[in-house]
Amino acid sequence: MKLLIWMVIGFAVVTWIMRVKSGLSKAHRDSREKTPGKAAEAMLQCARCGMHIPASEALINADGSAFCSEEHRAQHDVR
Ligand SMILES: [Zn+2]
Repeated sequence: MKLLIWMVIGFAVVTWIMRVKSGLSKAHRDSREKTPGKAAEAMLQCARCGMHIPASEALINADGSAFCSEEHRAQHDVR
């Protein structure tokens, strides 16, 4: 019975964390969507991992390659 209580508490904590995280990302997305013209934004592919990112969020290298994060851009430069 004790185990069940801890499982319920654990589940509640995880659910709460997920809700806080999704709430933050949703608020971030909402603020972006208020800017006109963003809906039809071009998607670029990360040259490192292949993930698609909106053009405004992509990091563009000097040679024109797009990256999803500063980390991937740095890894690409090393090669
Ligand atoms: Zn990437």
